[in-house]
Amino acid sequence: MKVVVAEISQETNSFCPVHTTLSDYRRYGICFGQDYRESVRKIEIESEGIFTALEQEGIDYVPAIRMRAQASGKILPEVSQYFIENLDKVIDENPGLDGAVLSFHGATQSTESDDVCGDIVKHIREKLGRHAVIASSYDLHANITERIYDNTDIICGYLTYPHVDFYGAGYRAAKLCARILTGKEHMHIAWCSIPMIVPASGYNTSNGVFSELVKKAKKMVQDGLLFDYSIFQMQPWLDVSSGGSAIITISDSAKHAITCVQELSDEFKAIRHAMVPQLYSVEEIIKAGMKNDSGKPIILVDFSDSANAGAAGDNSDVLAKILELGAEHVDTALAVTDEPAVERAFHVGIGNTGDFEIGGTKDKNCSKPVKVRARVRSLHDGDFKLDGPSRGIVRHLGTCAVISVGKIDILVTRTMASTGDTQLYRHFGIEPMFYKLVAVKANISFYASYSNISSKIMFTDTGCAATADLKKLSFTRLPKSFHPFSDIDDFNVAAHIKVK
Ligand SMILES: [Zn+2]
Repeated sequence: MKVVVAEISQETNSFCPVHTTLSDYRRYGICFGQDYRESVRKIEIESEGIFTALEQEGIDYVPAIRMRAQASGKILPEVSQYFIENLDKVIDENPGLDGAVLSFHGATQSTESDDVCGDIVKHIREKLGRHAVIASSYDLHANITERIYDNTDIICGYLTYPHVDFYGAGYRAAKLCARILTGKEHMHIAWCSIPMIVPASGYNTSNGVFSELVKKAKKMVQDGLLFDYSIFQMQPWLDVSSGGSAIITISDSAKHAITCVQELSDEFKAIRHAMVPQLYSVEEIIKAGMKNDSGKPIILVDFSDSANAGAAGDNSDVLAKILELGAEHVDTALAVTDEPAVERAFHVGIGNTGDFEIGGTKDKNCSKPVKVRARVRSLHDGDFKLDGPSRGIVRHLGTCAVISVGKIDILVTRTMASTGDTQLYRHFGIEPMFYKLVAVKANISFYASYSNISSKIMFTDTGCAATADLKKLSFTRLPKSFHPFSDIDDFNVAAHIKVK
């Protein structure tokens, strides 16, 4: 038994005007063959989970290619072409493969296709044939389309949000793939798609209505009804012609797979109105920061400009409001993507003061520059190691700088990544614990790193590409009948089932 293993990942925000190129993937590092295997060894991510499970099950594998990029605007077609060409080469060099275990994000759109992952998996299916077993891991925010379902035998998504089980998703997909390959079981996989999107800041798997749904699904596994389940809350800034949120169930019993998928899908649809965040204005949060004597920071969560959700990260409304309120004396940490400001900081030099315009350089629809006179505190190459759920992974921001206006310390970067990880600040000399107010541009991912070190978490929405106000965005491709744009009360959630 031998399978090919490959990974391609990017989360697309259709409303971010910055396209994602092959160079963006190269900046993250593209790995091939044995280098791919070694690059993920002992790191808690999907591919390591896949390789470990296959090794435990005694399934031989060929590592083909791993390529990832930061969430951003649509990818260019050159990206998926490059992935497919390299993967095809490996498949051609290894005739008679029994299957493929893949890792995708699952909410990936290109300038030419709304369903990049569906296109890729369809291509692999045609290449390997109907007999092959194809298993894939996905992000919880994937858009599981009919094309993905039709061409995949095992689909496993992250079970956590904030996501902390990257490894687990890959491991589960490869384990279930191995069970089919070794003839232990037939697997029935059921899928229900629900035409709905909700703000990503409005739910998590630790508490609230969404966590109750997760508990129910978990119990179905504990009770032996299912081998596996996944709940996909489609990334809400994806403007595509097909897809939606989805439930997947996997069982050796067709009856259990279909009844569980139906029950979970009906409940998922029913809780859609309850998945909304509680919001504050930027001013309210800054005023709370001014009074904060707790010794721990208040976290201002500006999720709409989250680079993790594909927004540009260049909004500086918080800085503008601090200046307007005369609150430069409040210890505050900010991070803004601003390439010209980085260049200016290098030009001005450490310890010197200069005039800067901060923000509004990438997504001019959402962000305006703010003029400040700032002192350059430090300059960096922009590489930092994550400390959160992907501990040890290195992120590359390009050169960056820390500049100060009064007691406001601003990290300015060429690109933005992993905004929910405290290392984005700590690595560059900004220790969140020493601030009264720390701005974090993330939806929910920050909880894993910040919840224990903060006095209060307050959400705001500056109206950027990852806004919670989905009705404000100009969706043009989503079907007409889609929550929250129309009433889907009468929509009948239909289950599909197939067996391998
Ligand atoms: Zn996600």
